[in-house]
Amino acid sequence: MPTIQVSVVTPDGKVYDGAVDMVVVRTVEGELGILPNHIPLVAPLTVGAVRLNKGTTVEKVAVTGGFVEVRPDQVTILAEAAELPSDIDVDRAKEAEKRARQRIDSARSDEIDFKRAELALRRAVNRLDVAGK
Ligand code: ATP
Repeated sequence: MPTIQVSVVTPDGKVYDGAVDMVVVRTVEGELGILPNHIPLVAPLTVGAVRLNKGTTVEKVAVTGGFVEVRPDQVTILAEAAELPSDIDVDRAKEAEKRARQRIDSARSDEIDFKRAELALRRAVNRLDVAGK
């Protein structure tokens, strides 16, 4: 069965590099499942989990925005931040979630603070989801 090479890269370096059967990313327009020989494209990503399917296993990477570049044999995910489940500090994400929820409650009248807190909340919840918490 053909595989596709996937790398997840952040400004801090490479987070993942490997051959998979299928990769699923969350673009701003929705989920995109990519199999080998997919047509080339570039799409902006939203906060979400990248799912890497290999045989019967699925690995997840928490991704915070960026871009996906698809070529027939290679998928490159350029992310602002990305973490493997084992690299996620669950206590930190829980603290970030708590902080964001408090800010959302107190920032309803200020649109900018509200949006910032909402994005922070999405990052924290995504990390907890990928970490299985
Ligand atoms: P915090 O408020 O805890 O800093 P954040 O969502 O504002 O969270 P980001 O700006 O998305 O953090 O990321 C900054 C850096 O910290 C990135 O390198 C990211 O990988 C890392 N990071 C953020 N939260 C966690 C976490 N819970 N576990 C591990 N690394 C994290």
